[in-house]
Amino acid sequence: MADSWQKQLKKALNGQNTTALQNHHNYSEAAADMFKAVVTEEVIRSLENNPNSEALASQFLPIKAETTHHPDFKLDPVGDHDALANQGIIHKYYGRVLVIASGSCAVNCRYCFRRHFPYQQQLGSRQKWQSLIAYLKQHPEIHEVILSGGDPLTLSTNHLRRLTDQLLTLESITTLRIHSRIPTVLPDRIDDELLTWLSQLPLHKVLVTHINHRLEITPAAAIALEKLSKTGVTLLNQSVLLKAINDDVDVLSDLSHSLFNHGILPYYLHLLDRVQNAAHFEVELATAQEIYKELQARLPGYLLPKMVQEIAGQASKTPVNLQVDI
Ligand SMILES: *Cc1c(COP(=O)(O)O)cnc(C)c1O
Ligand code: SF4
Repeated sequence: MADSWQKQLKKALNGQNTTALQNHHNYSEAAADMFKAVVTEEVIRSLENNPNSEALASQFLPIKAETTHHPDFKLDPVGDHDALANQGIIHKYYGRVLVIASGSCAVNCRYCFRRHFPYQQQLGSRQKWQSLIAYLKQHPEIHEVILSGGDPLTLSTNHLRRLTDQLLTLESITTLRIHSRIPTVLPDRIDDELLTWLSQLPLHKVLVTHINHRLEITPAAAIALEKLSKTGVTLLNQSVLLKAINDDVDVLSDLSHSLFNHGILPYYLHLLDRVQNAAHFEVELATAQEIYKELQARLPGYLLPKMVQEIAGQASKTPVNLQVDI
């Protein structure tokens, strides 16, 4: 029998699945020392099953380019570290609040804008949820709670249920949104217990997956997504535009169609946040706009993600196609 999802997660976090990465000719120990290599068995399986999996591998493979310092790439490109003062609560946009739900993810994406986030300085969860509830009481205009990375689905279902039990006591909260990479990288996590909790939860439920390439939707991931879709969760996807991974109109168009086949609508296509050690993933703005223009000509409107970038201090994500200059 396969390991439980908890055991699979533990193995990933302990770095037990990295042999395949370490054997890769581009693997850099120095890069892994800066940000640990973490992958799940599901990702490794997918790498092994797909001969052309470089687009997948390079999302998780520590390489030497990460060790090159680039002055325009910062430790905290979007100004999230201040959130620590507020116990993991990031309230930047009207009507919704984002919570750093967990201290870890099931994979470490090399381009992650939170790769330098000092998760260990966070408070224990009991204290965190208490302050969240107190915060929401002071801000009745907030109707949506967004659980974001560290991946919220690394938490146990009981833990999530304890949180939503408290949210349900607040009339102002109508929507729970979960941002997670887990449905594709650790599909066994989408178990009956989780599905029962979601299906019984009397809130609007939105799950935003994070998929950058069609290859990430493995057969097991497809089953997990179908189950989620059947529980009445609205499924959306966000991707990051990444050099040599999905900076290509065919790849992005395939991705949109593939998402739709699995009940997911494309939501955002993010320009890379300029986080230190990830400069080699950046796609030039002019190139991004060119690709996007072609993509727009290819896809029905409902399969075209909004291309956006996060600019610190703005009231929302900023649409890239409307910008003339950065
Ligand atoms: C991206 C983000 C959100 C969600 O924005 P939507 O446009 O609603 O998807 C909310 N809060 C913070 C702090 C964010 O960075
Ligand atoms: S799953 Fe999301 S939050 Fe976690 S490392 Fe990847 S990009 Fe970052």
